[in-house]
Amino acid sequence: MHVSKRLVFRNVRVFTGDTTLRSANVAVSGGVILSLGEDLPPAPGDEVIEGRGRTLLPGLIDAHAHVFPGDLEQAALFGVTTVLDMMSDPVQANALRGSAGADLRTAGTAATVPGGYGWYLVDMGLLPPFPTVVSPDEADAFVASRFAEGSDYLKILLDDGSTTGMPTPSMAAETAGALVSAAHDRGKIAIAHALTAETARQAVRAGADVLGHVFVDRPDPSAAHELGETAVVPTLAVLGELFGPGTGGKALAADPRVSPYLTEGSRRMLTMGPYPLGEGARHDLTAATRTVAEFRDAGVTLLAGSDASNVGTAHGATLHRELSLLVAAGLTPREALTAATSAPADRFALHDRGRIAPGLRADLLLVDGDPLANIDATLDIAGVWLGGRRLPGR
Ligand SMILES: [Zn+2]
Repeated sequence: MHVSKRLVFRNVRVFTGDTTLRSANVAVSGGVILSLGEDLPPAPGDEVIEGRGRTLLPGLIDAHAHVFPGDLEQAALFGVTTVLDMMSDPVQANALRGSAGADLRTAGTAATVPGGYGWYLVDMGLLPPFPTVVSPDEADAFVASRFAEGSDYLKILLDDGSTTGMPTPSMAAETAGALVSAAHDRGKIAIAHALTAETARQAVRAGADVLGHVFVDRPDPSAAHELGETAVVPTLAVLGELFGPGTGGKALAADPRVSPYLTEGSRRMLTMGPYPLGEGARHDLTAATRTVAEFRDAGVTLLAGSDASNVGTAHGATLHRELSLLVAAGLTPREALTAATSAPADRFALHDRGRIAPGLRADLLLVDGDPLANIDATLDIAGVWLGGRRLPGR
């Protein structure tokens, strides 16, 4: 009988995805976590990783990204072991499944109206032309086609361009409602892009399971109590590039813990800001950050997302910046780490990951120091494991 060699992290602080163990041994074999506990010493023949002074985390999950070739490899180098794509060319996304690097889930084509938000990606040559949806009676067939071509969940774009000062035709609330229902009828969840308080409310009323951003047009303290079960991916890092000073990406690119792991393309994207906006652009980044705190205080489920590949972002690296921004907004480090591990796993029904627990995938991130005390330590990466295999170069 072949017995695969066990890997044991010894005397390591563990963030399980829910709670913290101050010092434990975590055993891995056959790509899954076997056990964790304080009294499970390594056995002869085990490969031992010394954990003293270090913290073992579940591999991070980026709950908002857009993938192109090479992105999943780079994400993994930063301990991001699962990437949830929120709009891309479905043919390309399906081809990227199973590539080396982070594991991919994808929305494929997002729902928008003809010439609506998202179509600029076609105009820029970043996406091939894609199907659109005009009215509620087209929703069911549109959604059926998305899941038939491999989408894991539905993405809906609700944007009139007012926050960026680039007006576009926008989707009627009834169409959004019909799209969400069509996804739910198929046992799938729906994620809505909404950048204004009004469209965020439309999405919530439509039954959206996740908002892909925090709204950014104005303060609206009552919104936190109207979200119900809808989760939110604040994406503060990318909003800071679009609507703020746009210096976060440049700071990341200059960080010696980040720089050596960036592709040339990523370095260019990170340092490209600020993003040019149209006249009359209506946004308030300070208010958006305060809204995140209001959501947190109201018990809204928050998920960490980078929105890479946008200007000022890089796959993998930007998720770490997002964690810092979530903490700066008012989350505890533990809450921020939950937003990048167990919370997205739960919301996206990824039951085999997002926690360090027996039987789950051994997607693991080992860092020096204690990110539960200092969130910036997530970038002090000592190793990354994908399905129990150590990532070369980490
Ligand atoms: Zn996005």
